[in-house]
Amino acid sequence: MNTTIDIKITQTSTSKLSTTDFDNLQFGQTISDHMFIADFKDGEWTDFRVEPYAPLMLNPANATLHYGQSVFEGMKAYKSKAGETLIFRADANQKRLNNSAKRLCIPEVPEDLFMEGLKKLLEIDNEWIPNRAGYSLYIRPFVFATDDYLGIRPSNKYKFIIFTCPVGHYYAKPVTVKVETAYSRACEGGTGFAKAAGNYAGSLYPASLVQKQGYDQLLWTDSKSHQNIEESGTMNIMFVINDTLFTAPLTTSTILAGITRDSVLTLAREMGMNVEERFVTVTELEDALHSGQLKEAFGTGTAATIAHISLINVNEEDYHLPEKPKDSFSYKILEELDAIKYGKKEDTHGWIMKLQ
Ligand SMILES: *Cc1c(COP(=O)(O)O)cnc(C)c1O
Repeated sequence: MNTTIDIKITQTSTSKLSTTDFDNLQFGQTISDHMFIADFKDGEWTDFRVEPYAPLMLNPANATLHYGQSVFEGMKAYKSKAGETLIFRADANQKRLNNSAKRLCIPEVPEDLFMEGLKKLLEIDNEWIPNRAGYSLYIRPFVFATDDYLGIRPSNKYKFIIFTCPVGHYYAKPVTVKVETAYSRACEGGTGFAKAAGNYAGSLYPASLVQKQGYDQLLWTDSKSHQNIEESGTMNIMFVINDTLFTAPLTTSTILAGITRDSVLTLAREMGMNVEERFVTVTELEDALHSGQLKEAFGTGTAATIAHISLINVNEEDYHLPEKPKDSFSYKILEELDAIKYGKKEDTHGWIMKLQ
């Protein structure tokens, strides 16, 4: 492929491939041999390179460490039966990275830089993309400030890095959740819509409190009334109430525009499902749980695709949801999405980027 992006390549002399246990992959713990790096300085991105994955040298005054100017993405590549590399909706991740970047005064990463860097990295680490059923390569692009200066202003220097992790079949264990009505993840006008590092730091403490009570995750509500269910903090949340699929709209600045969310909504509409993008209130959820009208609840996100919710705590009351039957909506959607991602089904949406 002809490209204007000149990428310098330094291959590792000590590949970890032969010593990696692909039977016991823990999410995010096994990292592939190489990473892609670009530096931003003097107003432009320069110095594009693929290097062995290795620690970075940072000055203690590094701006990110103090003020958190850092945004990231998460996406996946899959191997088709024929051995091609299929990357799912990378264009959407590139756009979202820049939406997040803009909110934090981080320079945008041009599309060609993002795509050429990604393709080169996956070409070099091609053997790290597992070709086993249900496995994939998790891809982590991120941008962070590198000025060494204690003063609150946008940094002048940044790094854009992509590294990858092979991940095993995510046996999505059903999750238990608690509706949170005291703490907030995001507020109107804030950074909730951005994949900004600080959002996750602020979520840890409230999450640790519900985990102590035995729940896996919390369901955030809006920061003002605590009546509207927003999302779960790493996943968007969907409910099937009677025959309608509900999920929070993207009309506030508090919801992360999940690419899995968008894919599920697209497929749901094509299947003829009623879809409503609007907030479900805590009271509505409670009523639907009481009356049995809540048929399914699940989270959507790149890591698990669909995470079935087996228990919801609302106002200190636990409600158990039925096991996920094979004729359920979320089961069908998961099958459909997996078929597209692994190239078993025709990609009619232009979601797959194929590398030879
Ligand atoms: C990443 C993320 C999601 C899921 O987005 P996907 O693009 O589907 O992976 C949902 N909510 C938050 C807060 C997230 O950070």
